[in-house]
Formats: sequence, C-alpha cells, structure tokens
Amino acid sequence: MRGLMQDYPLTLQHLLWRMERLFARKEIVSRTEQDVHRYTYGDLVERVNRLAMALHRLGVREGDRVATLAWNDYRHLELYYAVPCMGAVLHTLNLRLFPDQLEFTIRDAEDGVVVVDRTLIPVLERVADRIPSVRTIVVIDGDGPLPERIRGEVHDYERLLAAEEPRYPWPRLDENTAAAMCYTSGTTGNPKGVVYSHRSQFLHAMCVLQADSMGLSERDAVLPVVPMFHANCWGVPYAAGMAGSKVIFPGRFLGDAQVLVDLAEQEGATVMAGVPTIWINVLQILERTGRRLPRVRSVLCGGSAIPRGLMEGMDRVGLRMIHAWGMTETSPVGSFAQVRSWTPPERELEVRLKQGAAAPGVEIRIADLATGEELPWDGVAFGEIQCRGPWIAAAYNRNADPDRFTEDGWLRTGDVATIDPDGYLAIVDRTKDVIKSGGEWISSVELEGAIMAHPKVLEAAVIGLQHPTWQERPVAYVVPKPEFKGQVTAEEIQGFLADKVARWWLPDEIRFIDELPKTSTMKFDKKALRATAEPLAAARSAS
Ligand code: ADP
Repeated sequence: MRGLMQDYPLTLQHLLWRMERLFARKEIVSRTEQDVHRYTYGDLVERVNRLAMALHRLGVREGDRVATLAWNDYRHLELYYAVPCMGAVLHTLNLRLFPDQLEFTIRDAEDGVVVVDRTLIPVLERVADRIPSVRTIVVIDGDGPLPERIRGEVHDYERLLAAEEPRYPWPRLDENTAAAMCYTSGTTGNPKGVVYSHRSQFLHAMCVLQADSMGLSERDAVLPVVPMFHANCWGVPYAAGMAGSKVIFPGRFLGDAQVLVDLAEQEGATVMAGVPTIWINVLQILERTGRRLPRVRSVLCGGSAIPRGLMEGMDRVGLRMIHAWGMTETSPVGSFAQVRSWTPPERELEVRLKQGAAAPGVEIRIADLATGEELPWDGVAFGEIQCRGPWIAAAYNRNADPDRFTEDGWLRTGDVATIDPDGYLAIVDRTKDVIKSGGEWISSVELEGAIMAHPKVLEAAVIGLQHPTWQERPVAYVVPKPEFKGQVTAEEIQGFLADKVARWWLPDEIRFIDELPKTSTMKFDKKALRATAEPLAAARSAS
C-alpha cells in the first residue's frame, strides 16, 4: 500500500516563502569595513527577486553555474537563495585556493558567471585568462571604475539589482535538481566537486535545526564564523532562513577575534560556529580582558578536534562548546557531541570532547583499515569512518575519485575513528596524517591535544617525519602564547607529556615557531608543514 501524502518537493523555495511570510521583520547584520549593514529578511527576499531577474537578464538559465568569490555578508546570502531558487547552481569559490586549483574548480564546474567582491578581484585576476567558460563578471561593491584586465562583460551588482522589479517567476523545481557545488580542498590531487541538491540542502537544514544538533530557533541570533565559500557555511544560511533566526555576518573579519567578540556582544549573538583556531584566539581575548559573552548559549565547533585545554578554558569563561564532525562531502553535518541523559557528570567533559553521535538522517560505521570489514562499537577498535544518508555525496562531479564510494553505497571519509557503545565517534586521525612508527600507529591529533593543554602553549601541530629505523617519528611544531615566547623549552613540553601519552609516542623533536601554516579553512596545514620541514636529526646523521 502506498502512503497517501502529498509529494511536496523539498526545495529552497520553501525557505523564501517562510522568510517573506513569517520572518520579514527579522534582522540580518553584516560587518562592513567601517560599520555594520542592517536589513531584514523582508529586504533580503525582495533583493533575491531582483537578483534572480538580473541574472536571468544576463542569460543565466536552469542548470547554469554561477560562481561566487565573496565574503560572509548579505550579498553572499542573496546569492545563496537567488541562484538555486531560479534553478541555477551556486558554486562558492574558495578564495584561498592556489591559482591553479581555482582555475581547476572554475573549469571543472564550467562556471558561466562569477560574482566577485571588489576586494577579491586580484584573486580572480590571477586566473582571468585561463577560465574560458566565464563570460560575465558581476562586481559587488563596485563603487569606482570596474576592472579592465578581466575579460568578458563586467557589471556592477547594485546597479543590476536597482534596474529590476522584485518579482521573479520562480520555476517549479524537482527536489533532486542541483542547488550548489563546493570543492574539497584537494590535499592530494585536484579538488573534487560535491554537488548538493535542493532536497539534500533542505533536509540538512532541518537536521541543523534539531535540538540535539545546533538547535537554532527564531529566538536565536547566530554568528557563523565559517566562510560562506566552505561547505555551505555549515548549513547556517539555510537553517537560519528556515527558523527565522537573526544572522550576524562578520564580513571579511572571520580571522579577527577582536571584531568577533565586539560583534557578538553588540548584536547579542546566542549561537556561534567555527573551527577551533578561531576560539583559541577568542578565548585569549576574553581571558586577557575579563570580558564575557553571557548571551551566547553555545559555540559550535568542528573542522578539527577541540583541544581539551580549549574546551576547559571556554567553560571557564562561560562559553559552552558543542563538538561536531563533518566534511564537504557530508554537507557538512555528520555528528554532534551532545551529552546523553545517562552520562554521569564526571564523564561529561570526556563525552563532549568526542566528535559525537550520528545526526538524525546519517548512518555511520567504521571499517578495518586493512580488510574493510565493519568493526565493533567498543571504543577501542579503530577504522575508517564510512557514512550514508540523504545529504551525503553519492559521487563527485565528473565521477572523480570513484574509489571513495563503496559498492554498497557508503562514502569513505578518510577519517579514522573509534565508536564507543553509546555511538560516539572519537577521531583518531586522518588516514593520511596518522604516524606509522615501527609498525604501530600514533595519533597526531591526540598528541596535539596533549601539547595544547600546556598552559604556555597557544597551538601545536604534529607530523610524522622519515626515520631511518622507525619508518616515521612524530615531530611537534609548537607556538607559545605571546607572553611566553622564548620562555618555554622542549624539555618542559616533553616532561609535561610524560604521564599523558605512551613513552614511544613522545615526539622526537619539539620545534618552536611563531605561527602555524593554516589551510583555506583555518586548520593546521600539515601538508605545508611537511613540505618545508627539516628532516629529523636522526635522519640527517644517518645520511
Ligand atoms: P578539508 O579539511 O580537506 O578542507 P573539509 O573542510 O571538508 O575538508 O574537512 C573535513 C575534515 O575535517 C574531516 O574529514 C575531518 O578529517 C576533519 N574534521 C572535521 N570535523 C572534525 C572534528 N570535530 N574533529 C576532528 N577532525 C574533524
């Protein structure tokens, strides 16, 4: 017997309806160079209509790719809605990619239009003569002369919108139509395109809203510190539109902790989201100045593991971190570490430091690294995380790297983890970062966490380097807190680690540096560290 319910398409157009009819008065705030820009969801929807009219006039049709090279602000949000809702595909370009990779992603996606923020024109110029599919450039904040060195038609964003009526005839879309594309950062080989559908974005937004996920409500004011070019900004733009939450965008100041603290305070943020490096810097400011953010009820954090010291420090200043795990291929929400009703208080911190349990809609399993067999949830056995669900990629654009998908329809994530009997993942490492020493495995992530718990340490990244006897041995790159620069020794760190990790895990060398290289998404760039690392002393003397 078939169910007798309506086959209502799950598309982002439904969010436009909600924003206009239910939340028109709610505010969207964006930090600008000098001040903040404010308008309402009502204004947003009006401009989304004008934008769709303008894009249509420029020749954009269903299925066409429209790329963005832009910061976290209201214009980017307008593109997030207008492009998919008119049936075209939003391709958020990662503004920190190397020119070759940027060129690759634009060509691979066959972008026809690029909408670029004026300040990012130099990024586009580096590839301007190598992207033949691009025929139209739209410049945001186009005050002043438009760029000459860029080929194709060039338009000013505001002028385009001003020339249109706010009445786009939204087409009826199949829910499986492509809505957006995002490329993985391509740590090995070329970036790979993940193509999200309306349905996947819709269901993902519903998941983000759940109480045991991010729990966004109409009464929240959310400050996403995740770039909008990266993994749908963790789903915040659509989830906020669905719930009617106030949104606070930090503009181009994602990496400026001072701006973030001021903005959160002035605009009354209740939920913030970002990678650990952001919160390390925010915590520094709060501890140094004694300032607090009492209205913030949760700080979502993922992208890399939360160091214990960070979570404890944030608890001390009254900011509760919620650990989450995911990746571009999972839209990105995969799991959340919310504490269970049966967790005894003394185990809470331990549970919150894990990467969490599968979010509703996502199924997770771990597979033996050698045999691929499914492993037990005993908190000990570790293997590659595999997952499936309605917002998990089934393939990459142009069928790149098909080996990442199993024959029975699961995504191979490249992350290595244990799962405990309660279903909580604990990421041990990435398959490519785990250190193989004398046939045993050392988790670079655990070592980093242990080192970062040292009171004089700001950041630490651990990589494995070639060793003549042990194959690889760990080396730690350590950034002391500014006030302890030059005042912390390798012996001190080793001594601190002695009772925290197994003896054979102790790094062979501790190297102090001023700053760790970061990836386009503010994670420690271990690939860059490895590329420039001095060989181990043991390897130098052996050769
Ligand atoms: P990339 O890091 O390659 O740019 P993503 O931004 O999609 O790609 O990052 C996904 C990866 O980030 C995951 O595969 C995982 O290795 C890591 N990651 C995400 N969340 C966490 C977390 N909470 N703890 C540890 N690692 C995480």
